[in-house]
Amino acid sequence: MSERTSDIAGPSYVEPAPVHHNEPNPFESMMARFDKAAEILNLEKGVYEYLQKPVKQVIVSIPIQMDNGEIKVFEGYRVIHDNILGPSKGGIRYAPDVTLDEVKALASWMTWKCAVANIPFGGAKGAVRCDPSKLSKVELEKITRRYTANMFNVFGPESDIPAPDMNTNEQTMAWIMDTYSMHSQRTETAVVTGKPLIIGGSLGRVEATGRGVMISTLEALKKLGLNPSDVTVVVQGFGNVGSISAKLLKAEGCKIIGISDVTGGYYNPKGIEVESAIDYVKQNRTLEGSNFGEKITNEELLELNCDVLVPAAKEDQISADNAGNIKARLIVEGANGPTMSEADEILKEKGIMVIPDILANAGGVTVSYFEWVQNRLGYYWDIDDINKRHDRMMREAFECVYDTANKYKTTMRLGAYIFAIDKVARTLVLRGIYG
Ligand code: NAD
Repeated sequence: MSERTSDIAGPSYVEPAPVHHNEPNPFESMMARFDKAAEILNLEKGVYEYLQKPVKQVIVSIPIQMDNGEIKVFEGYRVIHDNILGPSKGGIRYAPDVTLDEVKALASWMTWKCAVANIPFGGAKGAVRCDPSKLSKVELEKITRRYTANMFNVFGPESDIPAPDMNTNEQTMAWIMDTYSMHSQRTETAVVTGKPLIIGGSLGRVEATGRGVMISTLEALKKLGLNPSDVTVVVQGFGNVGSISAKLLKAEGCKIIGISDVTGGYYNPKGIEVESAIDYVKQNRTLEGSNFGEKITNEELLELNCDVLVPAAKEDQISADNAGNIKARLIVEGANGPTMSEADEILKEKGIMVIPDILANAGGVTVSYFEWVQNRLGYYWDIDDINKRHDRMMREAFECVYDTANKYKTTMRLGAYIFAIDKVARTLVLRGIYG
């Protein structure tokens, strides 16, 4: 869906994005698991309805003057799914086809992820419908600042804390922090996380998600009675999450036999030199043209003979079509929503342990939480402190989910949803319904 500019005089009009129906998507998969977990928990109907709907949905108009002098109006969203456990937390994405429905689903996803990670945050998500590849840096800054100004009563260190997501980065967060601070007439670093280090970002944030994947994998291997130095690992996706997961797992003794990116898969049963592959991607942007292994497709990569599979690229990679062919004993979801709900039962029947996204990739939001804590303390921890605290919280989250899955005799995926929903629902009941 591309933006369409009207030919009438005055500000350009950005066509609202359509709501996509009838297409399976990761959010529907997430909701299917939410429903199953709610059923197992025998969640009271009123509480179920409460937790299904976001508490706040804000749509703002963002008029800016483009570099060519024309005025163009963009649309921005912020959805707060809940603030039961604390201030809401969630990223902001810039995309030409983003819809309010998508933002709502992503906001609820954040609720469950924060609850699983034992972080005192609720869930939120924000977006601006724009195509950053067609905007200059000045235009992006204007959009970001006007979006923030319009959300001044929504964002806040005690109420709602954004972070980067698709097509937003450290620079975007710096503009949000500065705009919010100008309006509140004091520097408010804790209003947003994922900031550059020099203005209150946290050490360890860049590596955090991959580090969490590594910790989750090691904990799962212990439960399976496997030694890291005896296992082979395949990683799909070689960006932030995939490359760091591969690097850290290799450092723990695992043999990385397959990696991939958008250009395809690379298979080497003798083990891939991950650090060299990271350097190669730094220089060449992708793995294309490299000789790290035999060239295969991403589909073949997922079905390789290995012990651990880490999907760390994008959503909907494991479906009912290929789940039956997966040979790994353990899947650790670095990406959000890489497994469609239709594949859950097949993987369960095959006895494959799946560490779900809301647990496996929660390292990122955990270190975001540390950034917020450090901003509020005005005191910054060193990298050893960050890693120690991160690793402890990830292990505790893993144990909570593992115990819940055992208690309800179910999978780690449903265990994670049950643990999260139960915690949020019990807190809701204790706080009571105002009104
Ligand atoms: P990234 O853009 O840094 O890397 C994505 C990688 O996937 C790239 O190597 C790209 O080439 C590859 N890729 C894209 N399409 C592919 C395809 N069809 N097949 C195989 N590979 C493909 O992104 P990232 O930050 O590493 O995020 C990856 C996933 O992890 C996303 O689902 C994201 O939502 C999730 N995630 C990221 C973080 C984080 O902190 N970065 C936190 C939680 C979850």
